[in-house]
Amino acid sequence: MPMHAVRPKVLGFISEQASAWLVALVVLLAGGALTLIVAWAATDLYQQQVRQRFQLLVNERYTRLQERFEEQEQRLASLQRFFVNSSNVSRAEFDGFAQPLLLRAHAYAWAPRILRDQRSAFEQKISRQRGAPFAIRELNASGELAPALERDEYVPVLYSQTQSLLGSPLGFDLLAQPLRRSALERAQKSGKTAVSQPMQLVGVEPAYAAGVLLVAPVSKLSAAEPSGFVMAVISMRQLVADGLPKPNRDNLVMQIVDTSDTQQRVLYASSNAVGASDLSAARRLTLGDHVYALTVQASRVFDQANRSSTSTILSMGGLLSLLLSALLYVLVSQRQRALKLVEQRTEQLRLREQELRGAHGQLRSVLNAATQVAIIATDLRGVISTFNAGAEQMLGYKAEQVLGRMTLESLHLGAELDARSASLSAAMGKRIVPSQAMLVQTPDNLHEAREWTLLREDGSRLTVNMLGTVLLDDHGLWVGHLAIYLDVTEQKRAFEALAARDRLLKKLSAHVPGGIFQFILEHQDNGRFIYASDGMRDIYEIDPGLLQQDAGKVFERIHPQDVERVQLSIRLSALQLSHWREEYRVLLPQRGLRWIRGEATPEELPGGGTLWHGYVSDISDLKRVEEELRALSITDSLTGIHNRRYFQDRLKAEMLRLNRTSGALSLIMLDIDHFKRINDQHGHAVGDGVLQEVCKRISQRLRRTDVFCRLGGEEFGVLCPHTDGEQAYSLAMQLWQSLRSAPMDAVGTVTASFGVASWRVDDGIDGLLLRADSAVYVAKQAGRDRVQAQRLRA
Ligand code: GH3
Ligand code: MG
Ligand code: MG
Repeated sequence: MPMHAVRPKVLGFISEQASAWLVALVVLLAGGALTLIVAWAATDLYQQQVRQRFQLLVNERYTRLQERFEEQEQRLASLQRFFVNSSNVSRAEFDGFAQPLLLRAHAYAWAPRILRDQRSAFEQKISRQRGAPFAIRELNASGELAPALERDEYVPVLYSQTQSLLGSPLGFDLLAQPLRRSALERAQKSGKTAVSQPMQLVGVEPAYAAGVLLVAPVSKLSAAEPSGFVMAVISMRQLVADGLPKPNRDNLVMQIVDTSDTQQRVLYASSNAVGASDLSAARRLTLGDHVYALTVQASRVFDQANRSSTSTILSMGGLLSLLLSALLYVLVSQRQRALKLVEQRTEQLRLREQELRGAHGQLRSVLNAATQVAIIATDLRGVISTFNAGAEQMLGYKAEQVLGRMTLESLHLGAELDARSASLSAAMGKRIVPSQAMLVQTPDNLHEAREWTLLREDGSRLTVNMLGTVLLDDHGLWVGHLAIYLDVTEQKRAFEALAARDRLLKKLSAHVPGGIFQFILEHQDNGRFIYASDGMRDIYEIDPGLLQQDAGKVFERIHPQDVERVQLSIRLSALQLSHWREEYRVLLPQRGLRWIRGEATPEELPGGGTLWHGYVSDISDLKRVEEELRALSITDSLTGIHNRRYFQDRLKAEMLRLNRTSGALSLIMLDIDHFKRINDQHGHAVGDGVLQEVCKRISQRLRRTDVFCRLGGEEFGVLCPHTDGEQAYSLAMQLWQSLRSAPMDAVGTVTASFGVASWRVDDGIDGLLLRADSAVYVAKQAGRDRVQAQRLRA
């Protein structure tokens, strides 16, 4: 299956063709959108949480304030009960009871109800008790305390326990003030605790001045009307703010307004700033018969403590999206690059695979085409994995019988493997098992074929040459062996026949005098010996091996006067394909000059060139005999000088020379006078001696160039080349003198008659001989013992 069909996508959903930029942009947008959604959801949640938190804070604050309000009512109620249950409360008792109640209340006071007619007695009584003047007072027009005007009733403050430094407005008539009066009236009317309208408290620091008066009537069980009132002066600020967080730490901004106040005056307002949020809540606080509206808003502190995380989420989300898109860009672009690379590599691999498949097919074809060679591969255990057609033919097994079933060892002759294993083990100093013996090579015979005997399927044996190599895979790991077998049975037979013939040839050539050779001449070169028997060594005193390398050595041995002739005759034989036969001299370092005869039959080679099969022999002895015979054939046996045959040969040769170059030639002939007599008188042997003595005397007088021959019996001829008639005559005179000047032993003086003739232009042999002979005849006729020149030309 092609690889690109199952190509995965980046992160499973991004097509790899998508541009990395596009992917990054999409992710950035998606990230931005997601961030917005998350921020929106978070904002929603945040607002909900903030609201909840605010409500919690508000509820807690409200509960606290309501408790404080109720507490104030309860305290006042306890003071009221104290007065109801006591017949007469002294100042000290009041102080003792009220002092511990002073918590978040500005003051507690007791104001008895005094009727008009009781005023003066009451004022006097209290003045006495205090030891200081006492009067019921009220605020005049200028705002100062002054004795109260005449009224039916008074409710002056008698006992007072306060936190104020200014002290209590003792004697201050509460009925003189409309707001206080209204509260007292409501309390008296309802018999319960009543609360005044908001008022500015007297004798209180301005910041705490806004407050209310909490009034409770004190009525004896028997009385219909109250005897007085207990009251609590409450600074709203003190009641509300005391014990709360400081304004700069408070989460809430509060405002308290009396709902019954037509002017809607603010009784209490927090001093801290309202936050930006629109969080607010309203509650109702009850104190006595009044209901107060508590408005609560979130302060800036609250805002700060509950800051929204939206901007953080937005910035973090934006940053994360940016990072993610950058990461994806890198990832996608890198992956695209990687995929492109993979594609290229895949294509290369595919091409390689095709090539390999082709090569594999070729290899298989080659394996099976090699039918004359057995190619067998094995795995590391020696089990056969490849068995080609050649192996099937050679060994008779089918590939199916062998593959994966048989080992290389089982094809070999066991005894041979054992022997090789033993010798290898000894040579290499470690044990080589027989199953490996055919594959192990010693370092000195690496890659050399070895001869082995294989067993065919039918049990017959086969002699083969085997070459074993190690099989390596692509990574160079040893995966098996490859063995190549060549059937050498025929080759061996042929080789043995050849060796036998070689031996025969060697023997023959060793017993034949001379040398046998094969000489080849190609392209006008010096030629070379392709075969030279040992006998060639004796002929040329050169090693046959050396001769095969360089035939030129032979020509160095040949006599300088003969070498050109020999080379010429070789070329002629090559040209005409004629039998070569030549006799020539060689100059040998040890045996000196020898005569050689060479004979060879040429044969034209198909590619051009000539091949000779030949034989060379030493003919020096033959030459000597021949020379001797030749010498004998031209020598007179009695006198030792040349005979008539030689004379005639020389005469012919000289005549030829003259015809070519002209010049001079003379002939002196002589005949011993009355030789018959010598024979007759002294015997034939003495006659022979005379003949020898004559030859001796004449030879002594002759020049080196003169040719002296016995022409027959007691008749002699002297051939004088380059000699004219005069010179010859003078020579003849000398010879004549040398004979006759001294007697010979036993016979005395011996004389001879001389005839001299010289060559003339257009002369032939016969003419010259005839004239010389005629001259001798003339000398005889003239009385013998003289020299006669030829007759002048007619
Ligand atoms: P002339 O002066 O006329 O030449 O007289 P001649 O006796 O020398 O002439 P002739 O030709 O009659 O005789 C030659 C003799 O030489 C005859 C022969 O017996 C003798 N003779 C020829 N050959 C030999 C030889 O080899 N040895 C001896 N001892 N005698 C020979
Ligand atoms: Mg004679
Ligand atoms: Mg004679």
